[in-house]
Amino acid sequence: MLEQAKTLRATLWVVAERIAACRPIPDSAIDTINRLWSQHLSYPQLVRTKGGFERHEHSVATQHVKLLAPLAEAASDLLRLPDFTLIKKCGNAACILYFYDTSKNHRRNWCSMHLCGNRMKVAAYFERKRRQAKR
Ligand SMILES: [Zn+2]
Repeated sequence: MLEQAKTLRATLWVVAERIAACRPIPDSAIDTINRLWSQHLSYPQLVRTKGGFERHEHSVATQHVKLLAPLAEAASDLLRLPDFTLIKKCGNAACILYFYDTSKNHRRNWCSMHLCGNRMKVAAYFERKRRQAKR
């Protein structure tokens, strides 16, 4: 499972980098996602309930495929977005995260205001203070 998880992580990393750089997504990334999905097999089952019957999907996938499939699903959702320009790398050079900019004016810079946003604002504040002190 660890190897499959590492492969998927590396694939998703390449996908995010390519999208942010406006470069094409390699076929190998799509193959990795599709290979994982091909192992995510399930079939419908009719289940008796208090008031009647319900249809449930019974998964026959291994536990590690069940764990990784939602990540492949999220990657698929990402790749089907109409506008890749809203996928951005965090403005903090030390941060590895990418985000989907849903802000009103699409000028978001940080993966999270609570993490990188505050860190970068505090760093900018102290840099301004340091420069003022030198004058
Ligand atoms: Zn960040």
